[in-house]
Amino acid sequence: MRRNRNVKIVATLGPASSDLETITALFEAGADVFRLNMSHGTHDEIRARHALVRQIEASSGRPIALLADLQGPKLRLGAFAAGPVELEVGAAFRLDLDAAPGNINRVQMPHPEIFAALVAGSELLVNDGKIRLRVEECGPDFANCTVSVGGTISDRKGVNVPDVLLPLAALSDKDRRDLEFACELGVDWLALSFVQRPEDVIEARELVRGRAAIMAKIEKPAAVKAFDEILAVSDGIMVARGDLGVELPVHAVPPIQKRLVRKARAAAKPVIVATQMLESMIESPMPTRAEVSDVATAIYEGADAVMLSAESAAGAYPVEAVRTMDNVAISVEGDPTWREVINSSRRIAHTNVADGIVAAAREIAETTDIKAICCFTESGSTAAKVARERPQVPIIALSTKPETLRRLCLTWGIHCVATGPIDRFKSAVVSAARAAIDLKLATEQDQIVVTAGVPFNQPGTTNILRVAPCDERLIYRAEAE
Ligand code: PGA
Ligand code: MN
Repeated sequence: MRRNRNVKIVATLGPASSDLETITALFEAGADVFRLNMSHGTHDEIRARHALVRQIEASSGRPIALLADLQGPKLRLGAFAAGPVELEVGAAFRLDLDAAPGNINRVQMPHPEIFAALVAGSELLVNDGKIRLRVEECGPDFANCTVSVGGTISDRKGVNVPDVLLPLAALSDKDRRDLEFACELGVDWLALSFVQRPEDVIEARELVRGRAAIMAKIEKPAAVKAFDEILAVSDGIMVARGDLGVELPVHAVPPIQKRLVRKARAAAKPVIVATQMLESMIESPMPTRAEVSDVATAIYEGADAVMLSAESAAGAYPVEAVRTMDNVAISVEGDPTWREVINSSRRIAHTNVADGIVAAAREIAETTDIKAICCFTESGSTAAKVARERPQVPIIALSTKPETLRRLCLTWGIHCVATGPIDRFKSAVVSAARAAIDLKLATEQDQIVVTAGVPFNQPGTTNILRVAPCDERLIYRAEAE
């Protein structure tokens, strides 16, 4: 079984998708990457989901990626004495450090560093931006606010402070525990929430110590501003539209999404478009037309992956949601306009041998009757470069490293295949041809393009491009060595 599309699907696991049967059904319906959300669920629950995914991977024989998503420095209010209170527009409301339960006049905000960063005129957004508070005056332990958008406020609601660069540690104590837990468990990607600066990613990387690839979630205006620097130090990007649409006006999100997707592609780093993609499917077996259009837009933009959050984690129709994304992807990628758009957004600076080889591989494959581009990749960087070209023929990544193959599950268009160590070019070509035939992408009568590097099995050496037959007798005749 293989996918008939290029864009990848990320499905978040949760209470609605915690048993072997459901996760298997999600995988079969098209999920390529499973997301473990550290904001919800206990370590035991997450460990159990992780084990099920690895079990499915072993029985399917195909790499599957696991992405652990850290909660990040999420700000929350304290509790109220007598349940939710109703804040009226124009009313005064005070935030302070006092742990005493809140009321209609005040509540605790247990973050002294936020008070230190606030100024008169700052905006605080409560409960996904549903309530807005404007700071009138503030000190080291209080902020007197006016309610500019009212609503119901209740225990431990989240707070966003969009217009201030917060002096927050990138990783909370909980994040540090979760990071170590996830790395010990063995995940392929680690996503960092509320990244503000490149240093946040660098700090996490020191703790991860190469055990996972690192994804920066872009959900703060500060991260949008520092995007180029953050992209440079990250392995992948998530356009986290949920919080981004709280911290910025919702109408600012689509242009940012487009820009981030383009830049990540140019850097050959995978980018996920996330949140509310099929939101109505949490409760309904059918998506809205607008949601289908949103998924389609991300695919037309050339995103590596589209993501399901609550739809697959806590919704009533997790499998249908994956199937919907799969159907939309096949429909969009069958549209000649999609190909035109993808080609016209190919802006790649070729700066080294591998860049040139993969560009040539695409040219050759697209101008002759080649069935697949097969690349031997140790670190995954050559495969990512092939994907960046967004070629019209399928890409097969072959690697001796299971962790490389799993990470590449997130990358546009790549079929991941495990291979033994390569000793001579002939055996590389034979492995590539067998993979193409096994995946039913080619027959013995077809030709493929193979890229590899000499010396073999070393990262960063791609320096060979060969057009090769899939027929083993012909391979042996062509490759004396
Ligand atoms: P979350 O991140 O689901 O962890 O909040 C995604 C987003 O904010 O869009
Ligand atoms: Mn978020």
